[in-house]
Amino acid sequence: MSAPAGRALVTGAGGFIGHHLVASLKKRGFWVRGVDLKHPEYSDSHADEFLVADLRQAESCRAATAGIDDVYALAADMGGMGFIANNHSIILHNNALINLHTIEAARVNGVKRLLYTSSACVYPEFKQTEANVSPLREEDAYPAMPQDAYGWEKLITERLCYHYREDYGLDTRVVRFHNIFGPLGSWDGGREKAPAALCRKVARAKLSGEHEIEIWGDGEQTRSFCYIDDCVEGLYRLMQSGFQEPLNLGQDRLISINDLARIVARIAGIEVKLRHVPGPMGVRGRNSDNTLLRKVLGWEPAISLEDGLSITYGWIEEQVRGQLSGGAAGKSA
Ligand code: NAD
Repeated sequence: MSAPAGRALVTGAGGFIGHHLVASLKKRGFWVRGVDLKHPEYSDSHADEFLVADLRQAESCRAATAGIDDVYALAADMGGMGFIANNHSIILHNNALINLHTIEAARVNGVKRLLYTSSACVYPEFKQTEANVSPLREEDAYPAMPQDAYGWEKLITERLCYHYREDYGLDTRVVRFHNIFGPLGSWDGGREKAPAALCRKVARAKLSGEHEIEIWGDGEQTRSFCYIDDCVEGLYRLMQSGFQEPLNLGQDRLISINDLARIVARIAGIEVKLRHVPGPMGVRGRNSDNTLLRKVLGWEPAISLEDGLSITYGWIEEQVRGQLSGGAAGKSA
């Protein structure tokens, strides 16, 4: 048997992106440890070792980072707009503890590289007031004025990475995700994000025969969406690169939530009426400027929204069918 490509830790390995990342690192030949409060919900982890632990505790972080070369720091208490807009203090408290202890443990244990997963939510609200927004470049994060506590905490941890690099020589990476979606992520229960929520609503509309779905706000708010396979490819490429500054990772195709719902309905093969109801909308418009991404990685996400949504919708429709028939759809490998 050949030696592993390296020893990687994925924090948040029980979550959506972490679970997919573990699978892709295994395919690349890494020995992988996953850590999370919980095992993945919909599919068994591919990790060589999986620790169930609370990373708000310093000792859990030390155990998780022991003997590790590369840390992919994904663990976070987070969710879609509904969760982010209603849980500011919990988000700030829990994520600050996770990140402070994870990076310190990485330093103490002599980890070689640490990649931190930040968010497009760091960008200032005043740059995102129009649906037809200018794509956000990395330097737009300053002067800082994120909309929510979630974005402020991400920005502080970006600074933490910078200072650990400056003060201790820890080799850090910072990625800013723009709305990652795909199968095996939250799709119900309050933490799901717009693509998964729309797939669930459309699937329920299709299966019930009542072809009307609710959209929060007027639905003209815009975003860009990136499929999970492109996301994990980008994470690996960024870790391998020597690039230490924050980098966007997302698609740069801007689309309104109304149009996103229409694409999902087309995939489901039905026509839906959109009923607009009050609800958290986040910023009015947000898009990724991928100029730096292309320059640094020589690559950018390429999987089309339609292709990614087809796979995601198929998986969520299966979950909804399972729910309606009274059972869970079950884990898949
Ligand atoms: P997720 O909620 O599916 O995964 C996060 C995981 O962290 C969960 O499994 C959760 O149990 C775990 N976690 C929370 N608190 C913990 C604790 N105290 N100890 C151990 N584990 C804990 O989210 P995701 O979509 O996979 O996101 C992964 C990372 O990417 C997060 O840091 C998130 O903020 C960031 N991000 C995601 C998106 C996106 O579109 N999904 C966008 C921007 C940033």
